[in-house]
Amino acid sequence: MSKQILILPGDGIGPEIVAEAVKVLMCLRAEYGLHLDIYEALVGGSAYDEHGHPLPEETLRLAHDCDAVLLGAVGGPQWEPLHISVRPEKGLLGLRSELGLFANLRPAILYPQLAAASTLKPEVVAGLDLLIVRELTGGIYFGRPRGVETLASGERQGINTLVYTESEIERICRVAFDLAGKRGNRVCSVDKANVLECTELWREVATRVGTDYPDVELSHMYVDNAAMQLVRAPKQFDVVVTTNMFGDILSDCAAQLTGSIGMLPSASLNAEEKGMYEPIHGSAPDIAGKGVANPLATILSVAMMLRYSLDEPTHAERIERAVSDVLDQGLRTADIAAAGTQTVGTAQMGDAVVSALRASAG
Ligand code: NAD
Repeated sequence: MSKQILILPGDGIGPEIVAEAVKVLMCLRAEYGLHLDIYEALVGGSAYDEHGHPLPEETLRLAHDCDAVLLGAVGGPQWEPLHISVRPEKGLLGLRSELGLFANLRPAILYPQLAAASTLKPEVVAGLDLLIVRELTGGIYFGRPRGVETLASGERQGINTLVYTESEIERICRVAFDLAGKRGNRVCSVDKANVLECTELWREVATRVGTDYPDVELSHMYVDNAAMQLVRAPKQFDVVVTTNMFGDILSDCAAQLTGSIGMLPSASLNAEEKGMYEPIHGSAPDIAGKGVANPLATILSVAMMLRYSLDEPTHAERIERAVSDVLDQGLRTADIAAAGTQTVGTAQMGDAVVSALRASAG
């Protein structure tokens, strides 16, 4: 049966990098018989310009109807003066909450060819392959009460609430344990149980869920220590599971270990494993329209989509191998360029991945 994929190029470099990912999908369709139908819609600032809203109804309808969503990036300085309710980021947050995308998967993988790109010593990061599983629809980013209020004294106070139900903790932990079972069989649950009651409950539930996965080793770590360990000895981690805010911070830290924001994909999944896939970087307005952006994070997001939402792991591996082949050929976009490599633009990089895919089709 044909898979339905919604493409949301978004803003800035979004359309440039997504075009390369679509070339890859088209190649899989033409050369390897992957059955898929592609739909395209607007989101973010471009949707606001056209429809007066960053998440038009038509985009949301298509997102509900399709099997998976591939998003470029949203945002840019021209939309910053807008009211917060219609800023481009609202399109992204709206999609996450409307589709119930509670599990954010962010791998931090360092391709051996790019070991020199990290700011850490090569021996600390060479071979790094960790996965951060971040809870995405709960916690302090959504808890109520929230806001800024004025006290009787006239002074203002800001309030946010950290809240998790047992079922919210359990479902994200299960995602982490299931994924660890397909990787290195280790889960590290990160909390602040020594200070926050909410994450004391998190630790208790994670431990309980862990008893259902006897083959997966569970450890617990306080978030301050986890931040330190990520830069001290990151290869000790396999799967890290944590709350929305801790995951937001730790996943950026883990991404930076690889030194290349243009290389890292992400997935956000709901209970039915429907997902939205996107590079971890933003819309890079500073290089938009110049044809120099790295499309590999978006292309690798397609690989995650094939693996997690479309049940096509063989196609996912083909893409990952093609990306590695292209790096072996010494091709680099400007963000990952190094001495002795050949700097190419966005479209040339996409074409090179497609050629590598075709070559392996024989
Ligand atoms: P950014 O990730 O867009 O850019 C940070 C730096 O990395 C820039 O120097 C940029 O040129 C570079 N960069 C990013 N992606 C690259 C790529 N594929 N190839 C080469 N270089 C790349 O972050 P920012 O500058 O803080 O934000 C710019 C806009 O993006 C803002 O409007 C922000 O709100 C938005 N944003 C969107 C998302 C998203 O859509 N998921 C995520 C983060 C930021």
